[in-house]
Amino acid sequence: MPVDRLLPSDDARDLIALTRDVADKVLDPIVDEYERDEKYPEGVMAQLGAAGLLSLPQPEQWGGGGQPYDVYLQVLEEIAARWAAIGVAVSVHSLSSHPLLAYGAEEQKQRWLPGMLAGDQIGAYSLSEPQAGSDAAALSCKATRDGDNYVLNGSKAWITHGGKADFYTLFARTGEGSKGISCFLVPGDLEGLSFGKPEEKMGLHAVPTTSAFYDNARLDADRLIGTEGQGLSIAFSALDSGRLGIAAVAVGIAQAALDEAVRYANERTTFGRKIIDHQGLGFLLADMAAAVVSARATYLDAARRRDLGLPYSTQASVAKLIATDAAMKVTTDAVQVFGGVGYTRDFRVERFMREAKITQIFEGTNQIQRLVISRGLGS
Ligand SMILES: Cc1cc2nc3c(=O)[nH]c(=O)nc-3n(C[C@H](O)[C@H](O)[C@H](O)COP(=O)(O)OP(=O)(O)OC[C@H]3O[C@@H](n4cnc5c(N)ncnc54)[C@H](O)[C@@H]3O)c2cc1C
Repeated sequence: MPVDRLLPSDDARDLIALTRDVADKVLDPIVDEYERDEKYPEGVMAQLGAAGLLSLPQPEQWGGGGQPYDVYLQVLEEIAARWAAIGVAVSVHSLSSHPLLAYGAEEQKQRWLPGMLAGDQIGAYSLSEPQAGSDAAALSCKATRDGDNYVLNGSKAWITHGGKADFYTLFARTGEGSKGISCFLVPGDLEGLSFGKPEEKMGLHAVPTTSAFYDNARLDADRLIGTEGQGLSIAFSALDSGRLGIAAVAVGIAQAALDEAVRYANERTTFGRKIIDHQGLGFLLADMAAAVVSARATYLDAARRRDLGLPYSTQASVAKLIATDAAMKVTTDAVQVFGGVGYTRDFRVERFMREAKITQIFEGTNQIQRLVISRGLGS
């Protein structure tokens, strides 16, 4: 049953209706096949872009939808409920445009933002390296200034949409220590940039995650975003918004698992009654429903603070932690509701459980979220 959302405007209600329509027609018919066969759904992101769903929270001035973040996140949740991998890709696309939008010079925005937000280009976010995940400040991919260029050398890891994206928001080393990292906007076809083969993942099979290799790749110096050395604070500020996206994706996965579980519990009978009518199972479903509703409320609270221009970094970490832990628990319990068949590929719940796991890991593991939250508690 569709979630009965509290939305702030007719525009927002129309957007949710549009998203459900696109999800019904574009995502739902192919998700099972593409996830099973690990095929990339060429054209699907472009269809979302054409429907205006790839740049909802960005300002209209640059071709974005001008929607409040809480509306964007609820749209994202609806997409992820149908296809988590696409929800993640949409969230990462938004994350990748944040540095240019928030830190770019006016002239850079005029040059690149309209194209990035028009919906026909896909963005990726390239912070992680094989030896620098949680400890992002340890990254070593180098950007060395040479005349009008930066020369890029080194490896990046774990790039969502690696090899498929049109631009990469790259964080590379221009100096020593945490103040020696800078942010660049790299075109996907840059000479000297190549990609590894897609990682063989537990879930999110339809969208590739790859390494990237820079081998004396020469990038125009005017593709530096912000100032030299500002990269790490740009990366972290983008992640505050991105974590809310991951929270919304996690709630979408959890909602989809809950819906499947409730449907099955109303059909399956044991001991002469529907399994939902056994109190032990009914209470399990009640706890799942409560977890989904409270996780949604947590990300919406953080998003509304963001929309009001209030600090929201701690709340974004709380939302990511609560929503992704809830998704892991709810999807695991959904498999339980299905009994033996829940452990087969005949039903979507096993996929939801595999998909929920990554939300506890990327854009800062949940241990790192606790670190951020505990730092916020210090005097
Ligand atoms: C499918 C997928 C997609 C991804 N997409 C992207 C992407 O698009 N762009 C990108 O840049 N990155 C991406 N990542 C990378 C992801 O953000 C990192 O994997 C994540 O931040 C964890 O880093 P790590 O894997 O190096 O783990 P590590 O940092 O090695 O951590 C290992 C374990 O130690 C724990 N740990 C580490 N430090 C601490 C500490 N101080 N206190 C307590 N515990 C700690 C961690 O929580 C974890 O449990 C992706 C990863 C995956 C798997």
